[in-house]
Amino acid sequence: MPELAYVNGNIMPIQDATIPIEDRGYQFGDAVYEYITSFNKRPFLLDEHLARLKRSMTELSFPLVDMDTIRSAVLEIFDKGGYDNGDVYIQISRGVAPRDHAFPESNEIQFIMTVRETKRYSDEMHANGIKVITVEDQRWGRCDIKTVQLLYNALAKQKALDSGAYDAVFVGPDNVVREGTSSNLFIIVDQTLITHPLTPNILPGITRACLLQICRERSIPFQERFFDTNELYAADEAFLSGTTTEVLPLIEIDGHPIGQGGIGAISKKLLAALRNKM
Ligand code: PMP
Repeated sequence: MPELAYVNGNIMPIQDATIPIEDRGYQFGDAVYEYITSFNKRPFLLDEHLARLKRSMTELSFPLVDMDTIRSAVLEIFDKGGYDNGDVYIQISRGVAPRDHAFPESNEIQFIMTVRETKRYSDEMHANGIKVITVEDQRWGRCDIKTVQLLYNALAKQKALDSGAYDAVFVGPDNVVREGTSSNLFIIVDQTLITHPLTPNILPGITRACLLQICRERSIPFQERFFDTNELYAADEAFLSGTTTEVLPLIEIDGHPIGQGGIGAISKKLLAALRNKM
């Protein structure tokens, strides 16, 4: 099946898609994005992703965009892709204009998407877990906005790989544990789930919200509160959450073993409950 791209209303094979070099996303990182996945041809939590996309654009004073048009376009590219399980990447930039820091006069955003077959983590990774390292969070102060400025995330991910780990976890200057390079983070202590509260320092993950909803439905206790690396290292279980990550257990953090070496009982229950909602 073809991997497709959508560029301002036109759908074409990915390799034929181009954008002008003066796109502000390319020049300044002046663009926002979303990543949506489908299961059995049904986009998962589409409205939640679109609401976050709208919020990202509003927070950055983008020109007003008709969300119904975006929604129809997303459904169209999922449909044309034809995958049972597909991933749609959406990127909207503040437009194409001669290079100038100031916003362009024109209100024409640049709207691109791609659709590909979903690449899920293997069952083995979900069962066995991964190793991570912590890194000082040197990203900007508005990580709650989903912008394409992912340079520091990329550096941190590479640092993790170079050190023999699989991913990195950002830690604030106060030793507070924030989130992963492309995921939120949860720990479990005494049967209670703990995750960083929603502040400008983390992305309000759609999967994070879905997991908290599952906790409410199943009366699993949870707390949205700050915790530091000492609490992280001593946790009974820990996992990363995200659209492609789902619930990915952490078995070692900065060399400290977590839990019994594989997915913990509560993490396993949450992964099953999440998949049940898809
Ligand atoms: N934090 C960061 C920094 C991310 O990039 C992502 C994935 N986009 C997440 C958290 C998880 O968000 P979601 O559950 O909406 O995929």
